Amino acid sequence: MRGRFDVIIVGLGPAGAAAAVVLARGGARVLALDARPRHDKPCGGCLSARAMGYLDFLDPPNWLQNQPVASLFLEYPGHSSRRFVTGQTAAYLVERRRLDDFLRQRVGESGAEVVSGRARALASEPDGWRVRSSAAEWRGTWLLGADGAAGLVGRTLGLGRTGFVYKALVEERPLPDHLAPRLAGAALLDLGGAPGGYAWAFGRQGVLNLGLAGRLGRTAGRAQLLERYQGFLARLGLGRPGAWRGALIPCPDGRRPRLAQGRAAVIGDAAASADPFLGEGIGQALHSGLLAAQAILAGDLAGYQVRMTSGLFREHFHARQLARLVYGAPARFQGLAQRHPGAIELVWQVLRGQRNYAGIWGGVARMSLQRLTGASGPQASLDQ
Ligand SMILES: Cc1cc2nc3c(=O)[nH]c(=O)nc-3n(C[C@H](O)[C@H](O)[C@H](O)COP(=O)(O)OP(=O)(O)OC[C@H]3O[C@@H](n4cnc5c(N)ncnc54)[C@H](O)[C@@H]3O)c2cc1C
Repeated sequence: MRGRFDVIIVGLGPAGAAAAVVLARGGARVLALDARPRHDKPCGGCLSARAMGYLDFLDPPNWLQNQPVASLFLEYPGHSSRRFVTGQTAAYLVERRRLDDFLRQRVGESGAEVVSGRARALASEPDGWRVRSSAAEWRGTWLLGADGAAGLVGRTLGLGRTGFVYKALVEERPLPDHLAPRLAGAALLDLGGAPGGYAWAFGRQGVLNLGLAGRLGRTAGRAQLLERYQGFLARLGLGRPGAWRGALIPCPDGRRPRLAQGRAAVIGDAAASADPFLGEGIGQALHSGLLAAQAILAGDLAGYQVRMTSGLFREHFHARQLARLVYGAPARFQGLAQRHPGAIELVWQVLRGQRNYAGIWGGVARMSLQRLTGASGPQASLDQ
């Protein structure tokens, strides 16, 4: 197959799907090329309420909100566990394959042309880009790399580089009876589960999603992750690791990564857009895809770089500081949260989009001040 398009999008995860729909609805002729992997994308399937809001323009189906989360068990090995409950839903647990199928359906309905295949090479031309798979070649005026962590487009063009990457693994298995009541409507995070990160357990309609994400350094690999994972499984009263799979979660590292070059840009994980504190990346991928598509429709991809740098990446600066603080002293943070549950409420508010990470630091400062002056309890400070 050959053809000429206004925009070629390489990769059709959340980032590529959001961009494809916005562009096609805006009248652009769009080719979305996707090497859909044999397996589903490794993922916890936890969407913050804020991320759910990014799906609004796609008219999301009701089932996406079937599994709301409004409580959290925050654990650390050897410490007592505590359940933190919040007033409104902060996140939803979804089946990742079903989410991706829904997104692809919306792309098909938008009029974008969807082709299965892996981009193998790309080259710039005077009037745009040429993209080649093993079976075909296409030309496009604009190019979007939505091909995930260490994708071809970013690697070839030197875009979206970062040094802040979580190594992660995940598996799903039937939800055992002894965990089902505990995980009903709750997420479990274990701060001792991974160095520089955490392990999680999510229960979803008879399915247990388990995983961990940590910053292990360049040389650490599979063996170290697995050792931690086995410890986590033992703490949950579970047996040996099942059919787990590993993957990377790239986050911005603060060096204002270059995301666009002329008529090409990277979005989603290819742009290292995931949240450095929680490792959440689906909402950020949708958001970056939407911004890049709007910039292309306006004829100026530089605007995308500016909006990401002054918006999401600025917020992620504060998220990175929080990650360093919390994961640098996980036992201390877990103890502090037990004594001051208002700290967890701040994070719930971020998940709901009621506060940003910069606002967390403001909230912490207010709580400290009020404790010093004895003015009022932590909850009062959070309500401001
Ligand atoms: C273990 C783990 C758990 C996670 N848990 C969560 C979570 O609970 N909540 C959350 O919000 N985020 C989570 N994330 C992060 C989230 O999955 C990603 O941030 C998100 O999927 C990024 O979307 P994307 O569209 O940028 O990339 P992807 O979803 O990775 O999609 C990229 C697409 O590009 C395709 N592709 C790649 N190369 C090519 C090529 N050369 N040619 C054509 N197509 C190509 C792939 O087949 C894929 O379909 C998790 C990540 C991991 C690794």
